[in-house]
Amino acid sequence: MDKPLESKVDETVIELKKAWKIVRDRNPFVAFSTGKDSLLVSSLLYEAVAPERPICLYSHHPFEFQCNLDYLETLRERFDIQIVEPFLGYFELMDRGIGFLTLKDPWCVPMLVGTGVLEWFQRQGVVSPQHCFMFRGMSGGEFSHKWHAKIEVYDRLNLPTMNPILGFKTDEILEVLRDRYRIPLNPIYEHMSRTYCICCYTSDQRRQAYSEKHHPDVCRKYYGQIEGMLFDSGLIQKTSVDEKYKTKEEKLERHGFVHWNRIKEQSVVGAVKQRMPPNGLCYHIRDETWIDTKRLLPVDGCWTREGRKIIFWNVAEEKCDCLIKRMLNCLDCGFCMVQCFNARHFNREKKKLELTNCLQCGQCINLKFCMGWKHRFWRRTIVEK
Ligand code: SF4
Ligand code: SF4
Ligand code: SF4
Repeated sequence: MDKPLESKVDETVIELKKAWKIVRDRNPFVAFSTGKDSLLVSSLLYEAVAPERPICLYSHHPFEFQCNLDYLETLRERFDIQIVEPFLGYFELMDRGIGFLTLKDPWCVPMLVGTGVLEWFQRQGVVSPQHCFMFRGMSGGEFSHKWHAKIEVYDRLNLPTMNPILGFKTDEILEVLRDRYRIPLNPIYEHMSRTYCICCYTSDQRRQAYSEKHHPDVCRKYYGQIEGMLFDSGLIQKTSVDEKYKTKEEKLERHGFVHWNRIKEQSVVGAVKQRMPPNGLCYHIRDETWIDTKRLLPVDGCWTREGRKIIFWNVAEEKCDCLIKRMLNCLDCGFCMVQCFNARHFNREKKKLELTNCLQCGQCINLKFCMGWKHRFWRRTIVEK
């Protein structure tokens, strides 16, 4: 290792030692993916705080290569690894109506990685992710590193975070792992440049070729669903882009679907709103099966149901709209527990969000963390009579 790199590593170890003293009582953990970046963060942190063994949390979901798990087993002696699992898998979410992954706010990280982590936080007995702390392997080799700071709040999970290796380039990371820590890399790197999921939406020809060869059924189903949503539905013809961007080759083979921006034709009427003076609002819900009144618990006592009508009184219109939008689009994905560990939790047996002991504080009545509202492919909206 050359001198400047060695000094950079030493400085990072000192920074980590200082950070650890501050956060060690806040359920600190390393977000561990089996990739080289998180491997380096774990190694640096272990060196900094030895003999303590910080927890390395790894979320495994059905789209990840099995070899990640096999590789993980080889690291157990070095690191305290804990495996969590997402509430729902990719195809389960698709079956519930979520849209395919695009570059705009992709839902895979919060839903396939984040939900298991949220549940782990809840098990630690904290009231919010803000009482936990993540060490994350965001490196200078990542395209998005320039939008991150060494200390920040990871907004998807509302979680205080340290990115200690932002200043490290890919070749430096590999050198430190090889020369200082002598850790073999995940063997998946022999086939691809990153530890992708089987059907990662970020295009990489090596990844696509490897996935298609080893997991042809998953790939067929994955691309088939996107084809159904864009082409079989006729939606593609309703976009205003040039004809050359409307072909299956462009959208599917070249992964052009990742640039898809929601269009107004993806909105369908979910409810008709009617004013009921002096202070009532009535929502006529289009389909009875879209009504699940547990979503209205935060304003219990201020609404009533008459068949397909939900009537609120003395509740601000903005809040009523939010509650109805959330109810109409809910995927029961459980992600909104990020806003309230006390009252929300995911029942893994029933595969549903449960709401109990709501204190009606009102803090969750917004759509900021609602995955259904953001990502349902055919979004159900409210129109006014
Ligand atoms: S590898 Fe790709 S699909 Fe998988 S979680 Fe990461 S960005 Fe999402
Ligand atoms: S209203 Fe308050 S207590 Fe009830 S679910 Fe929302 S955040 Fe939790
Ligand atoms: S309200 Fe939104 S975030 Fe919560 S379970 Fe439903 S879709 Fe998921």
